[in-house]
Amino acid sequence: MDLGLTGKVALITAASKGIGKACATSLAAEGAHIVIASRNPEVLEQTAQEIRHISNSAVSALPTDLRRPEEIAALVTKVLDEFGGIDILVNNAGGPPVGKFEALSEKQWQDAFDLTLLSAVRLIRSVLPSMKLRQGGRIIHIVSSSVKQPIEGLLLSNALRPGVVGLAKTLSLELAPYQITVNNVCPGRILTDRLLQGPGVQGKIAQGLTEEEALQELTKDIPLKRIGRPEDLGNLVAFLASQRAGYITGTTIQVDGGLIQSIF
Ligand code: NAD
Repeated sequence: MDLGLTGKVALITAASKGIGKACATSLAAEGAHIVIASRNPEVLEQTAQEIRHISNSAVSALPTDLRRPEEIAALVTKVLDEFGGIDILVNNAGGPPVGKFEALSEKQWQDAFDLTLLSAVRLIRSVLPSMKLRQGGRIIHIVSSSVKQPIEGLLLSNALRPGVVGLAKTLSLELAPYQITVNNVCPGRILTDRLLQGPGVQGKIAQGLTEEEALQELTKDIPLKRIGRPEDLGNLVAFLASQRAGYITGTTIQVDGGLIQSIF
């Protein structure tokens, strides 16, 4: 199936590794020109090199801290200068810290709000004029299964990510007249540094299990009996970003091997 992505311009944030990198790789493999952003310039450039090796697409790496509004504005300005517009925004960010309510400080709440919700608002605000000029666009948020089923110990994610989903649903209505679609993708348990360093794996290691044994434990309640791969997300994001997905908007789709128990 031709996804119609050749020559489209995609900005993927938090893309030096993990899910963001997989989304960038899938989009580049389908012929989109991509811009990846995250904080560490060396790691980001290394990722860009890897993606250049497997695609014929232009790949730009622009170091950005998504908690800083001025860096988001500068990022989008550079993309517009280099490529003349933006067709696809994959709104990904690092996960907020773990912690239960009484352990979380005011600053942690504010940082998580900036990173999880406000970075999405700021990115969308910056790319929207270009998408409107191009009479179409795709905005895809990477959220979490926590928007459908709260995860123990991840209060900040459980509290703030539903805000991203509310934002996306509302924007899917406001932006429909411009043929701009807005959707959310929810990772379940995906094999990245975030999973390996998170409470699920680390809690089991603290009980004496090896990393491999901890991952096996985390596989047991996944109906498809495996931990997800970043490319499982990348494949869906490439489709949602494509011309083929032009009638899909306002949805929240989990990629979790069947883990979430709710009907919706
Ligand atoms: P990861 O740790 O592998 O990668 C995180 C990326 O975010 C890196 O590129 C990092 O440089 C970047 N980043 C972090 N803080 C940043 C900042 N302030 N500015 C710019 N870039 C920043 O994590 P991942 O597993 O790929 O997670 C991606 C998103 O998906 C996160 O929000 C995470 O919470 C969410 N998620 C992941 C899983 C999972 O199982 N891996 C499950 C549910 C939700």
